[in-house]
Amino acid sequence: VNQELELYFQPQVDAVGRMVGAEALLRWHHPELGDIPPDTFIPVAEETGLIHAIGGWVFDQACARIADWGRSDLPFQGHLAVNVCPWQFSRPDFVDSIRLMLEKHKIDPGRLMVELTETALLYDLVETVKRLKALRALGIHISLDDFGTGYSSLSHLQDLPLDEIKIDKAFVSELGANLENPLVESMIAIGLHMKLAVIAEGVETEAQRAALVRLGCKHFQGFLFARPLPENDFRQWMAHNAHPN
Ligand code: C2E
Ligand code: CA
Ligand code: CA
Repeated sequence: VNQELELYFQPQVDAVGRMVGAEALLRWHHPELGDIPPDTFIPVAEETGLIHAIGGWVFDQACARIADWGRSDLPFQGHLAVNVCPWQFSRPDFVDSIRLMLEKHKIDPGRLMVELTETALLYDLVETVKRLKALRALGIHISLDDFGTGYSSLSHLQDLPLDEIKIDKAFVSELGANLENPLVESMIAIGLHMKLAVIAEGVETEAQRAALVRLGCKHFQGFLFARPLPENDFRQWMAHNAHPN
């Protein structure tokens, strides 16, 4: 199965288009069925327990790429964000497995970001806080994925040691040049008040980007800048989009 899996990389940029990181997105090229989207196979992998093998493979690959890009003097700037589903995060050995990956690939932990959803975080709040603190003690950054789509109370979020919130693309797609968007505005304001980085995903149009900038959003990801790219294309993108630090 591993030969059929591939990580794609989607750049993340700031308001002037400079790279601030990338998100690793899994692709499954099935020999007969063709490409199967992660939205389809991740839930099945969760049900069958295969997610642990797949998730381990994803982290191994992500760390290997970070190490590679550093060695090849590619201008990889910022972090590489890896998606973690609730089942992966709930494993007692989750933090240890990541520590082992960092040691194996000898990468700077600050280059790695973990994307978690509210579903993963709010199942057992006490245990979650412990784990997030352990991850951050390793030097890893934490992003709250799909922000705004869950039903968690804000008081819970306040207790979580996070570095970033990611505004879900469902909200971004509703943004237009002339529309009022009190919801998105509030989400961004919450992030900024909590001293978190705020990134919007699914940015497809200049109008959406402009609206987000106006509302105070600092980081962006979406087809407007780049699609998720196979590694070689992503390397080229980095080479063309390098900026002095
Ligand atoms: P997500 O974490 O919310 O990822 C964002 C999705 O939006 C990705 O879909 C990405 O390709 C897509 N996207 C990016 N820019 C745009 C845009 O401008 N417009 C639109 N319409 N879409 C955009 P993708 O790659 O199909 O991944 C779907 C979901 O599968 C992800 O949602 C994530 O929950 C899950 N996933 C992907 N890779 C992994 C992985 O390695 N591990 C785990 N556990 N889950 C993964
Ligand atoms: Ca994500
Ligand atoms: Ca999302």
